[in-house]
Amino acid sequence: MDTPTDTVPDASDDERLAPATREFLVREQGLLIDGRRVPAADGRTLPVHDPATGRRIATVACASAADVDLAVRAARRAFEGDWARTTTPERSRAMWRLAELCEAHHRTFRELEILDNGMPWNLGEMMAPLAAEFLRYYGGWPTKIEGRTIPASPMGRRPGETLTYTLREPIGVVGAITPWNSPLAMAVLKLAPALAAGCTLVLKPAELTPLSALLLGDLALEAGIPPGVFNVVPGFGEDAGAALAAHEGVDKIAFTGSTEVGRAIVRAAAGNLKKVSLELGGKSPVVVFADADLQAVIPAATFAAFFLQGQNCMAGTRLFVHERVHDAVVEGIVAFTRTLPVGPGLDPRNVFGPLISREQRERVLGYVQTGRAQGATLALGGRALDAPGWFAEPTIFTGTRPDMSIVREEIFGPVLCVQRFGDGDLASVARAANETIYGLSGSVWTRDVSVAHRMVRLIDAGQVSVNCHAAVDPSIPFGGNRQSGWGREMGEEALDLYLKSKAVTVAL
Ligand code: ADP
Repeated sequence: MDTPTDTVPDASDDERLAPATREFLVREQGLLIDGRRVPAADGRTLPVHDPATGRRIATVACASAADVDLAVRAARRAFEGDWARTTTPERSRAMWRLAELCEAHHRTFRELEILDNGMPWNLGEMMAPLAAEFLRYYGGWPTKIEGRTIPASPMGRRPGETLTYTLREPIGVVGAITPWNSPLAMAVLKLAPALAAGCTLVLKPAELTPLSALLLGDLALEAGIPPGVFNVVPGFGEDAGAALAAHEGVDKIAFTGSTEVGRAIVRAAAGNLKKVSLELGGKSPVVVFADADLQAVIPAATFAAFFLQGQNCMAGTRLFVHERVHDAVVEGIVAFTRTLPVGPGLDPRNVFGPLISREQRERVLGYVQTGRAQGATLALGGRALDAPGWFAEPTIFTGTRPDMSIVREEIFGPVLCVQRFGDGDLASVARAANETIYGLSGSVWTRDVSVAHRMVRLIDAGQVSVNCHAAVDPSIPFGGNRQSGWGREMGEEALDLYLKSKAVTVAL
């Protein structure tokens, strides 16, 4: 881990932060196992850094396999004990109380997300309310999870001689493994449907961003969710993460992260054939037809590419523009991007923050070099910023081709690749948009409803938007086709990930 400026005073002395945030940062941050904050069994700790300054902001206990094992056992006891005895209205009320507590602590959540992840102020500000909305939405579900009655005739029995129905039961102990790009949202995306279904969890947040998940765990206890239902074990992926993925006591892994690690999770899960859902990488297309409203396209395509500095799986990183409007769109996006204030998220004026780490910035700049070497035209950016922290300029390439690595691979950074298309059939435009191993999201920009709906059908992705990019709402299913993953998070479909069906037949 990169620890360039560990010797300077930590962020707990920063007067801009709320007293509650400063108090949280200086506190000994143990693992959350069975309702108690405890040190790691081997005493290891993990330094946490602010990517906008490189400063150390906190130290948390670092779990290894032994701690993961304790957490899984606690989750099993809670699954069979207190949580199983909780009525569905009680479950709902506990989730709603947690939603209220997220809102009550919104300032601390905002500051932790900004300091830990480097997100800009306006995004940090959205995170606790978003978490609350997810908890409220899924908090409404426990009383509505129902099975079916089936008019079956097993072994030729006549109607009325048997009764067949299905029960929908919680899948059991869930191992949740989350990435660093939206730490609170990612934790809640797994926690909320799992709790609604009646499961218990062990969450391993990303080693780079463990703070908001720990606060969420504390608040879950305060909300009355019994000890052991929600355990939080920060640690490294290859250690704590791998132990959780392989653990025989875990019934299901819910993972968000890179496609490469997704494959490792599938292999690790094969031991006890635990269920796996995966929300992986993306290289989402934004397709702009000549009749599109360019006033809307330009800011939306800019944010689709550079939201969270491009470090998000739904980022619209491949922009396909009809040749008649290509130059106007590119010039508009370049000009608009130049106006975006870049800097630390603690200053509310900044809308573009740092990358998560020095390594990530080097990776991104490596792609920029490759893009230039492969013949793409650099229309904007391409450099690291000469400032503390891990900032890199928003970068736009034009004249890109499907064979270039900047177009093929997920960069997870602020690099937008523009391609042009001419008049032709929609199938060929869609073929270009689908020329990727991923299939997470995409957007189509046109005023022609027929073109819009035909393109929606042709684009191979779990989510396609028209005249907007990436719709996030607790009720809208989200997830990927092809190598973007397995399963859908959010909406009613996410509940299925945490439930199993039991067919019951009674001979009358
Ligand atoms: P990202 O780059 O988006 O963080 P990663 O896939 O590297 O994506 O990491 C996502 C999560 O997966 C993190 O919590 C990380 O610690 C964890 N992780 C990394 N390697 C493994 C592994 N081999 N087994 C289980 N979890 C892992």
